[in-house]
Amino acid sequence: MKFILMSIMSFVMIINIVHAQTNNPNNTSTFEIFTIAKEVKIIRILPSVYVIEDQGGIAPAYSMIVDISDDNLLLVDTTDPEKTKEILAWADKKFNGKKIVAINTHHHSDRTGGNAILIEKGIPVYGSDLTASLATEEHEIPPNHIFPANQGKTLNFDNNKVVIFYPGPAHTEDNVVVYIPHLKLLFGGCMVVPFQKVYRVPDANIEAWPNSLAKLKRFDIEWVIPGHPASLNDDLNFSPSLIEHTEMLLRTGKTGEFTESDKQALRNEKAQYDASH
Ligand SMILES: [Zn+2]
Ligand SMILES: [Zn+2]
Repeated sequence: MKFILMSIMSFVMIINIVHAQTNNPNNTSTFEIFTIAKEVKIIRILPSVYVIEDQGGIAPAYSMIVDISDDNLLLVDTTDPEKTKEILAWADKKFNGKKIVAINTHHHSDRTGGNAILIEKGIPVYGSDLTASLATEEHEIPPNHIFPANQGKTLNFDNNKVVIFYPGPAHTEDNVVVYIPHLKLLFGGCMVVPFQKVYRVPDANIEAWPNSLAKLKRFDIEWVIPGHPASLNDDLNFSPSLIEHTEMLLRTGKTGEFTESDKQALRNEKAQYDASH
């Protein structure tokens, strides 16, 4: 029950589509998109970057696989044990058994949901000390390679760096982002909001959020992956302007509870989606 409640509270609504910046090159139609399992879609946005969309549950969520070096894959977040198994099987086949290194961007179950499977398979799961303690408190499986949030963590794969950065509280106290310099790509997770409203999940910090977003400007970014897609349709948008969009929502007070009508709208959209697939 706690999981369901948490999911309802933490997932943001999906009916409001951000009508993407018209001159945004990070647009949808050119991407290779394919389904690897029931409710699991892959969107290949760059030759080495595979955004994973889990379409199940209360709302769809994004995670990501990056073909980061000759020997390694990077997996950012997992949503669910069964889907994690499917994703690992797909990756193993596609990348001929490359070793996986995983990261949790915060403690909620749409980020840590596959940790038990990853750890069982000997895959290292990186997360901050804040994420580890909050996950444990909320009965999620914590990451098993812990770093101090305030120091962040840099992982090196041959010539490619992966920077895990803690910008401060926003969607949760512990949210981190993952920046990949050679791709100019930022996995912003759930602190980057593609909707028309920021939901006040129980552990959100609305006051600190804008300041934490501002700290992302230190990165040279061409791609931003939010924690959730804007809609169940394919009107995808991975633009850096999602950061300013989230700032705008916060600045103009477009924040609020996840209401009954939000839930109903979500159920309607999901029913429509299910009927057409
Ligand atoms: Zn969350
Ligand atoms: Zn989320």
